[in-house]
Amino acid sequence: MLSKDSTYRGRFAPSPTGPLHFGSLYTAVASYLQAKANDGKWLLRIDDLDSFRCKAEYTNKILHTLEQYQLEWDESVFYQRSRYDAYQQALNTLEQQNILYPCQCSRKDLSERHVRNGIYDGYCLNHPIIPNKAYSVRLKLPQTNISFTDAVQGTTQQRLQAQVGDFIMFRKDEIHAYHLAVVLDDHEQNITQVLRGYDLLHSTYRQIFLQQLLNIPTPDYAHIPVVNGPGGAKLSKQTFAEDVSLSPVRQTLISVLTHLSLKPPKELLTYRPHEILKWAVRHWSLKNISPETAIPFNHSLIGLYVITLFQ
Ligand code: GLU
Repeated sequence: MLSKDSTYRGRFAPSPTGPLHFGSLYTAVASYLQAKANDGKWLLRIDDLDSFRCKAEYTNKILHTLEQYQLEWDESVFYQRSRYDAYQQALNTLEQQNILYPCQCSRKDLSERHVRNGIYDGYCLNHPIIPNKAYSVRLKLPQTNISFTDAVQGTTQQRLQAQVGDFIMFRKDEIHAYHLAVVLDDHEQNITQVLRGYDLLHSTYRQIFLQQLLNIPTPDYAHIPVVNGPGGAKLSKQTFAEDVSLSPVRQTLISVLTHLSLKPPKELLTYRPHEILKWAVRHWSLKNISPETAIPFNHSLIGLYVITLFQ
């Protein structure tokens, strides 16, 4: 919990692998409202760790879209791509704890032999490595049970070794693991609460474990339900969710607010986006978000508001 004198610091951390869609805007707005309703700062981090999947054109597009919706971030934008040395230093710290090991399994080896129910069987831990062959680096997990209390979802726990298995910390293609980067970046940015989609709840146990290994304090967490598209799958780039920079801003923003359990009055449609956000900050409460894994995308809301506007 936050002590009285500490400032709330929240963040939105999109990966620039595509434009912002309704689901990512919804997460951006929720984290913004939570920060501002707590008189805090809302920081923007671009998770461009994976240089193969992330593109500068999407970074620019995301920044532009946030500006379009008048979601103003505090401080300068933080980029993962500038953090290689910090990630490497943390990896060395873990190396010194003798808990890392090289893994030379190919994708085929993994899918055909060494991964069952998503869990790696530790093959490379017990077999010598082949010289001059590329390898990834895995974290050898002890039998540990990680439990935490999420501000939305309540208390949950995971037995890391049995339910996740030794996970990758450094990829064969020389990219540090997402979990390592997120833990170090949230710490570097002094994030006090991580608010993000429920789909990342299962990552949190690994992240808390890494915080413990690296002696980093654990922030608060709040995992809000994700928005599911018509087929029942999470709205995402993979499901070709629409680019919200092309949607009518005020209507879309108001629709986001209704998906976040707020009840915006119709007159808000005549307000500018930052005034709509101000209204939302005044009415926002994380307590109104129910502990669900997902909510359906209600497309009719945007249309309904468009019709109302022209009545
Ligand atoms: N960059 C991640 C994503 O776009 C989110 C990371 C996080 O919120 O911890 O899914």
